[in-house]
Amino acid sequence: MKITVLGCGGSGGVPLIGCGCPICRSPDPRNKRTRVSVVVEEGPTRILVDCAPDLRQQFLAAGLATVDAVILTHGHADHLHGIDDLRSVNYHRNAPLDLWGEPDTLRLAQERFGYAFERPRTHEGAWYAPALVPRPIEGPFAIGALAVTPFRQIHGGDRDPTLGLRFGKFAYSTDVKEMPDEAFAALEGIDTWIVDCLQVRPSPAHSHLEQTLAWIARVKPRRAILTHMNHTVDYTDFAAQLPSGVEPAYDGMTIEP
Ligand SMILES: [Zn+2]
Ligand SMILES: [Zn+2]
Ligand SMILES: [Zn+2]
Repeated sequence: MKITVLGCGGSGGVPLIGCGCPICRSPDPRNKRTRVSVVVEEGPTRILVDCAPDLRQQFLAAGLATVDAVILTHGHADHLHGIDDLRSVNYHRNAPLDLWGEPDTLRLAQERFGYAFERPRTHEGAWYAPALVPRPIEGPFAIGALAVTPFRQIHGGDRDPTLGLRFGKFAYSTDVKEMPDEAFAALEGIDTWIVDCLQVRPSPAHSHLEQTLAWIARVKPRRAILTHMNHTVDYTDFAAQLPSGVEPAYDGMTIEP
């Protein structure tokens, strides 16, 4: 299995537009974060998790042309609004593309991007709009060679819940403020975990450093990788305060659990 971190930034990305803070001005490429997204590959199967607004740039940076399916963790703009650029995936597949998500998430996607779910708009090999097929997640499912175990996570306040995703010994938990016991049960025995850690200080919608480290101590993966980091996080400073086995993600990072 191979995981590529396409993006690991907060909802505004890093640098933030118009911000002059030292991290937004840092020349370290590991402090340049696009919005969160990963690709999970197993044998011939390749799955994209979330459609960040930076999707086009991310595919170009990773040399990606196509995926077999997309899974949405939830419907927030930083996870969904790159959806239009999936038409390039339709072009390379020359076929519609499955979009998996909880029914509420798919409903949001269809409300905002209805044109992407209408009949395929294609002519002489060109795809003028994405052609997506909604696939509601109602329990464990499989895409090609990859078995997927979804689990509910709490995003905080009145926000809709998010889906954590387990693929064999790898799990992905973005946008999570509270982790229910059922989520910990789903994470039992994983090797590698990518998990939300917005910043050092607590936040209403995301886990912060102390809490994420406590979760990692409970789940005990061999390797934990922090994601969804905002512009208060300097890669080198942050990495230096983490216990062994825990590290910040960076855009373009690849992992083979
Ligand atoms: Zn987010
Ligand atoms: Zn900044
Ligand atoms: Zn969110």
